[in-house]
Formats: sequence, structure tokens, C-alpha cells
Amino acid sequence: MDTKILPITSENIKLCADAIKNGELVAFPTETVYGLGANALDETAASKIYAAKGRPSDNPLIVHVASINGVSAVVEKIPPLALKLAAAFMPGPLTLVMKKKPCVPSAVTGGLDTVAVRIPKSSAALSLIKASGVPICAPSANLSGRPSPTTARHVYNDLYGKIPYILDGGSCKIGIESTVLDLTSDKPRILRPGGLPPEKLREVAGELETAKEDGVALCPGMKYKHYAPKAEVLFSAYYDSMSQSICDWYDKLSQSGKKPVIMCLSGNAEKYGDRATLKVGKTYDDYAHNLFADLRLADDRCYNVVIAEGVEDGGIGSSLINRLIKSSGGRII
Ligand code: AMP
Ligand code: MG
Repeated sequence: MDTKILPITSENIKLCADAIKNGELVAFPTETVYGLGANALDETAASKIYAAKGRPSDNPLIVHVASINGVSAVVEKIPPLALKLAAAFMPGPLTLVMKKKPCVPSAVTGGLDTVAVRIPKSSAALSLIKASGVPICAPSANLSGRPSPTTARHVYNDLYGKIPYILDGGSCKIGIESTVLDLTSDKPRILRPGGLPPEKLREVAGELETAKEDGVALCPGMKYKHYAPKAEVLFSAYYDSMSQSICDWYDKLSQSGKKPVIMCLSGNAEKYGDRATLKVGKTYDDYAHNLFADLRLADDRCYNVVIAEGVEDGGIGSSLINRLIKSSGGRII
């Protein structure tokens, strides 16, 4: 199968919406990362996503809809808190887990009786959902285990030959995935930190629990290997003399014949002298925006170890720490 990258035009939205209606897969931009979409009401179409990505079948998909009516179409009963959260944060990088309606096939929910729903903010994503006339289930459009894609080219490099179309909406604004919040337990519970910081959620939802990652399949996707480039990733804890320790690791790795690179904020780059760096930007938001792209860039430039700077916990920093711990496979220095 040939894979076409298509600019966002009304003709291409229609072409891709028709493909979705016909049970095919389409990759599309959102404000978080690129999604690999299928008709969420079509079991066979949803199954194709798992095959294309090499995704374990017990890892459920997020259902993308264009409005609160779209949420009602897939959720048994929308709890009052979901309406409050939707008014505050939707469209946006928040996914809510609620009891599913029977029309949502179990291939979409990994066999669970709940469904994860989100209204994306990206206008291309909203246009595609509206033109398709169906909810679109979509995980990130990468090969399972690889860094999530934040450009059409990342999707192409991972899924060429496996899907017909990629809608190209440029680079994703946020760059990491949505925050997943479970509304089916007594207290709302963050299953996956993401683009919407917990502090903002608490302003509306009050006290929140955070799911412990102890292997229990609360958010099944969190137990699998994630976000890994070919290079080994070492993640530094955040502390005052972090840059000195990073330099020591860099020098030790270089001496042992490795080709390391330091992933750092641009304001810190001079602390690393003439060592190789990948600058992720000035702020933690920039770090989130560039993280996955720079992990892929490290591979393209043939570095075989990425030493990633730590960040302070809180805000988008908490989500960055989550992604970097996973990406490093827990190799924390
Ligand atoms: P991805 O779309 O690849 O970013 O992954 C979606 C994330 O949402 C994964 O970690 C899934 O395990 C999680 N998820 C999707 N549906 C549910 C659900 N019904 N209950 C709990 N977690 C879910
Ligand atoms: Mg993913």
C-alpha cells in the first residue's frame, strides 16, 4: 500500500472522512500528538489499528468526538463532574474514562466496560471527525513502543505502507499526550499525566487521586514499553548540580566509545561546554513540545545514548518526568 501525506484542504478532509467511513485508517494531527484513527463503532476497522501499530490488544483506544453530544453517543451516562470538566477543558488535552454504551465495540476498549473520550482542539481533527459523522478511535500514530509522533513525517517513517493517508497539520502544539482521568472510581483518578497539568484539573475537580503504576491494569497502556528511541536514554533527576553529574556521565560514556548527546534547555547549554547537545527550547512547555521529536532526531544523528535533563515536578513538568522515566526504561542517573 502506498502512504500519502496530504495537506489540510477541504477535499483532503473529505477524502480521509470517506476512508474512515469505509473502515480504513487515517493518521491525523491533534494538539497533543498525531493520532491513528478509525471508525470507533466499527470493530474490524478498530482492529486494524492494533495490527498497524503492533499494539497489544488489551491496550484500549481513546475515542475522539467533536462535541458533548458526541460524548453522549458513546458514554452510558455523563456524570455531573464530566460536564463541569468539559465546560472548563474541552476541547483540549483531557481524556475522561466513563462507562461505555454497548455500541462501542470491545476491540476499542480492550475488553473493558469503560471508554476513554476526548474532544481534540485541533481544527483539522475536529473537521475530520465532523466530516466522518462517526466517533474516531485513535491511539498515537507511532509503532508501538516508539516515541509518539508530533509531525506527519514521524508517522510516515513508522507506518509507511501500512496506512493509506496521513493528514499533515504541521508540528503538534503541545507535543505530549492527553491527561487521562478516570471518572468511574469513587474519587476522580489521574491514570496518565499529560498535556493538562494536575493543578489545573484540581481547580475544577477538587481532590484527585493518582493511579500508582504497580502493574494493575487501570490504564492498561501504562504498563508497556513506551516512547523509546533506538538510542539508550538516561534520565537525570532534577537537582542543583545536575549539570555536573551529566557532564561526568557524558565523559565516561564518550571514553567507553559511545556517542552520547545531552538533551537540555537552551539556557543550560553553556554548562555542557563543547559536548553534543540537543536543545529542547527555553521552557518546560518547549521541552514537552520537542521531546519526542528530539528523541527521534537523536537516532537520525546516530547518537546512541541520550542523557536527558531532569525538570522540577509540578505543572507540565510532572508529565515530562512521566514520559522521560518511561522513555529511559527507568534508567535514572
Ligand atoms: P495512546 O492513545 O496511545 O496515547 O494511549 C491511550 C491511553 O489511554 C492508554 O494508556 C490507554 O491504556 C488509556 N485508556 C484508553 N481507554 C481506557 C479505558 N477505558 N480505561 C483506562 N485507560 C484507558
Ligand atoms: Mg501512544
